[in-house]
Amino acid sequence: MTAPTRAPHVGVLAMQGDFAEHVTLLARIGIDAHEVRTRAQLDACDGLIIPGGESTTIARLLIAFDLMEPLRARIAGGLPVWGTCAGAILLARDAPALDRPPIGVMDISVDRNAFGRQLDSFEANLDVTGIDGGPLRAVFIRAPVIASAGPGVEVLARLDDGRVVACREGSMLATAFHPELTGDTRFHALFASLVRDAVAGDAADGAAGSRQEATA
Ligand code: GLN
Repeated sequence: MTAPTRAPHVGVLAMQGDFAEHVTLLARIGIDAHEVRTRAQLDACDGLIIPGGESTTIARLLIAFDLMEPLRARIAGGLPVWGTCAGAILLARDAPALDRPPIGVMDISVDRNAFGRQLDSFEANLDVTGIDGGPLRAVFIRAPVIASAGPGVEVLARLDDGRVVACREGSMLATAFHPELTGDTRFHALFASLVRDAVAGDAADGAAGSRQEATA
């Protein structure tokens, strides 16, 4: 018997940065998306995007809004997350140039501002594992790089010089660039499929649980 599934709700952390662009893009591919600033909004999410912006500011606001620990707990419980640029810095276990501890859930080390200053921002075409239909145009704005990654982390994309700019660990994604700024919806569709899988898995677990109860 197939477990019933419902349409997933994707949250976009809206402390600071370009959260509105993510919400717009998700809406374009038919995903129910909402901004997240409170614990109740976090609890309502089936998946969460942490946008680009300024990682130091977002970290400070997460602490001020009492969201840091609830966020860590939800992610530890399997909430799919995707960090873009500053969001990737925040997800890293190790972000040496951040002035306070990151959320710290992905087994990656991320170097902030790895390409230099704002003026050194650039665009590149990337082949991304899991995304069909040709290279993805990627916008790097005072971007980080994923300097190292643990054995459970899959590299999804590299620059021509070999530096890692996108990776996945289970249902967590980190990208050094901003897929929300090009109008290309393929990366958001990839994340939405991870969220759908997680919702379907929870529904199947719930159904198995109630079957066990029924036969106990
Ligand atoms: N340079 C920013 C930081 O370190 C990230 C920039 C971005 O998100 N575009 O937080």
